[in-house]
Amino acid sequence: MANYVIEPPEIVSLPIQGSDAAFPVRRVYCIGRNYAAHAIEMGHDPDREPPFFFQKNPNNLDTSGDFPYPPHSSDVHHEAEMFVALKTGGTNIAVEDALDHVYGYGLSLDMTRRDLQGEMKKMGRPWEIGKAFERSAPCGPIHPVSAVGHPSEGHLKLTVNGETRQEGDLNQMIWKVPEMISYLSAYFELAPGDVIQSGTPAGVGPVVKGDVMVMSVDGLGSLTVNVT
Ligand code: MN
Repeated sequence: MANYVIEPPEIVSLPIQGSDAAFPVRRVYCIGRNYAAHAIEMGHDPDREPPFFFQKNPNNLDTSGDFPYPPHSSDVHHEAEMFVALKTGGTNIAVEDALDHVYGYGLSLDMTRRDLQGEMKKMGRPWEIGKAFERSAPCGPIHPVSAVGHPSEGHLKLTVNGETRQEGDLNQMIWKVPEMISYLSAYFELAPGDVIQSGTPAGVGPVVKGDVMVMSVDGLGSLTVNVT
């Protein structure tokens, strides 16, 4: 082992549904505006422009079931998103081969400091301060492809305190999972352990301390997250 001058950072991992094994995470990519109704609610044209991506940090993923309200924001939004976990990677992956690289799927939230993201957008600056903050990606376990296949449709829903806020279907994605993987692999070298948040349907909105968010997708169970 290398003679590290400090203790090496912990490897972030996600639990596997129905197993005590774990999935080690390398990178987290997130696609923007991937459901037409959400693009429209954010003031954008839902036409099929090239996709765009940003990143969160692996250690922003959090499976504790709690989301501590972050500092320096008074407008923190939920974005309910299916995530995709890769078991293999590569570059220039063809759309028709892309699903062969998927280990499994799960439920996640792309929590967003919308006010800070908005300021950054206005100034043409990067979004990390709005997106890649501590514990900004609450998530559930990975459901392996061996158990759930490759879900390309299924009702996606998020409630806050029992009230429905977000609803959509996986089949409404503008860029489908194989297309996302293929596109990303043209710009980045994908590798085992990479995770992709696949975008959110319409209905994003603010949460406050004490709220309980429950996300579900047909076939992938549900995820409950308390805003603390
Ligand atoms: Mn998002």
